[in-house]
Amino acid sequence: MGFTPEQILPHDSYLINLGHPEEEALQKSRDAFLDEMQRCEQLGLVYLNFHPGSHLRKISEDECISRIADSLNWAIAQTDSVIAVIENTAGQGSNLGFSFEQLAAIIDQVEDKSRVGVCIDTCHMFAAGYDIRTQESCAEVFQSFEEIVGFKYLKGMHLNDSKGGLSSNLDRHHSLGQGEIGLEVFRFIMRDDRFRGIPLVLETIDETIWAEEIQMLRFFNAEQT
Ligand SMILES: [Zn+2]
Repeated sequence: MGFTPEQILPHDSYLINLGHPEEEALQKSRDAFLDEMQRCEQLGLVYLNFHPGSHLRKISEDECISRIADSLNWAIAQTDSVIAVIENTAGQGSNLGFSFEQLAAIIDQVEDKSRVGVCIDTCHMFAAGYDIRTQESCAEVFQSFEEIVGFKYLKGMHLNDSKGGLSSNLDRHHSLGQGEIGLEVFRFIMRDDRFRGIPLVLETIDETIWAEEIQMLRFFNAEQT
């Protein structure tokens, strides 16, 4: 298909929790994560996408964030090149990484900044309270992303509409334009150069209309003047 490694964004196992409050379970997660990092390197891939982790209400958010960063430092030290790409979450349960501040705090504590990045999921950000329903609100939200995290860390986007409402904390994807977000954010992303050259991945629920969704995104991109 002619894809380059930079266009591929594999996801790690959903069972891994790099911020686990208990030592034994934390080590198991770290071992599994390292295994996935090494597998990416063996395959010649450059990115590994993961969900940051959960405190399970047993440790503080700050403590959990430090554990996640320590886990990354530990795995990065034992691998050569693969970039750990943190995905923002919907903030469901005790999952961290739902705010730009939390993503920035993890990056801040990673020693080798060249080995860390972020992937922003539109459904998760909306469910976490970022209103991206209009061109104006998208401009504001992504400006604040630039200020708090920085587009230089953006390695990919997950394009999904949301079944849950704003701030619902529900991780429930929907087809583009059929959920609570609507189409404007996807038009915004396809017209903005800051999203150029990174993987834009559909994780929408109806695979029979993926071709149409992709065609629509291409149309939004061509629409720009
Ligand atoms: Zn996602």
